[in-house]
Amino acid sequence: MESLGIAVVGGGASGLAAAIAASDEAKKAGRKLKVAVLEKNPRVGKKLLMTGNGHCNLTNRYAGPESYHGDVDAVSALLERCPAEKVVEAFRSLGLLCRETEEGRIYPYSMQASSVLNVLRRNLEMRRVETICGFPVERIESLPGGFLLHSGENCICARRVVVAAGGKACPQSGSDGSGYGLLKPLGHSVTGLYPALVPIRTDSKRVRPLKGVRCPAAATLSADGKTFKTVRGEVQFTESALSGICIFELSRYIGRSPGNMEISLDLAPEYSVPSLAAFLREQPRMAEELPPEQILEGAFPKSLGLEVVKYAGADTRPDFTRIARDAKNFRFPVLGTLSWPRAQVTAGGIPLAETDAKLQSRCRKGLFLCGEILNLDGACGGFNLHWAWVSGTAAGRAAARSLWNGENGNG
Ligand SMILES: Cc1cc2nc3c(=O)[nH]c(=O)nc-3n(C[C@H](O)[C@H](O)[C@H](O)COP(=O)(O)OP(=O)(O)OC[C@H]3O[C@@H](n4cnc5c(N)ncnc54)[C@H](O)[C@@H]3O)c2cc1C
Repeated sequence: MESLGIAVVGGGASGLAAAIAASDEAKKAGRKLKVAVLEKNPRVGKKLLMTGNGHCNLTNRYAGPESYHGDVDAVSALLERCPAEKVVEAFRSLGLLCRETEEGRIYPYSMQASSVLNVLRRNLEMRRVETICGFPVERIESLPGGFLLHSGENCICARRVVVAAGGKACPQSGSDGSGYGLLKPLGHSVTGLYPALVPIRTDSKRVRPLKGVRCPAAATLSADGKTFKTVRGEVQFTESALSGICIFELSRYIGRSPGNMEISLDLAPEYSVPSLAAFLREQPRMAEELPPEQILEGAFPKSLGLEVVKYAGADTRPDFTRIARDAKNFRFPVLGTLSWPRAQVTAGGIPLAETDAKLQSRCRKGLFLCGEILNLDGACGGFNLHWAWVSGTAAGRAAARSLWNGENGNG
């Protein structure tokens, strides 16, 4: 039976960071340490290749505690200690050059997610970290001084385990929520889990005619007069949902019960109702009456303009003030979110109160947790990968140190 110093369950962003950090910590301490990544997929890093539309938005200049939801207080000190510059510096030392956009999003200089994965894999190889792929961990058995990791007929023994198995978002990438099932028998609990950074479902009769349209807007989520959040950005209309980064940001607030929630799109946030109405009234025209599809065609994509005009009930005698008002308050009912396969991240997870500041489990010594499996999720823009690198590095380092700091492993 293979016997390891540290087994990392999951070869995603946080697991690869944990394995590299554990190896580096051993080297610094002049110790020999056998580290392996156990990954259910045939290769590590499948989700990483899908991130940022294949560009991998790997961190954000403004990453800090305020960019996260969930058990933020428990890890705010860790997040404060590890700003984006540290992540960029760490990647540079691994051999990856980064570039930053005006909004503070940080990408590999190549703008290719594959560069990030290739650099990580090269560094694992250089450190002789084994990647054992096609190894879905089905059970973690706790033994005196270590753990047995079961996968079908196979078993691997390790003195320390880092669980980096991700959440439930995008199960087609491998992270299907099985990590929670590994941790529950070891004494951990799991909060409610919701898809986040995901399109928001609405009345398909309303959005179907707009399928494929994209437009800048300010999107506001509210219920019964209470506003949750307004975000500006590009809205995309799909068969049955509203999508786009600003919609993703609102999806975090929907959870399981949308209730009376609705989304209002301000399609012209730079204009007041009177100034937009004045523009509409003053447009040059061939005849006294403008056909409905022409009323807003100088301001918005044609099909969107027509739907706003219909929404304002102005097919025949247009009331320009009403049309302007509705263009700035184009409302859609919220029917929920699309489900896990369309989500970028999991809201909820293992409570951070169940780990210590070094991300060691309080339920089982010698067990460490990192990444999306924990109850922390970030905004869109590089914050979730930032958490994966920061938490993976912290957990990997702490797991390695615990081997020679006189800690006895689980017990
Ligand atoms: C389409 C998409 C685009 C995204 N784009 C961005 C972006 O640009 N920027 C950003 O910051 N965030 C982005 N995210 C979010 C980000 O990718 C995740 O938050 C991050 O990858 C989480 O890292 P992780 O290591 O915790 O989990 P994961 O990356 O999900 O890795 C978990 C790994 O564990 C493996 N695994 C699971 N269970 C087991 C098991 N039982 N045994 C063995 N292996 C197991 C899985 O196969 C997987 O490889 C995106 C997400 C998606 C889906």
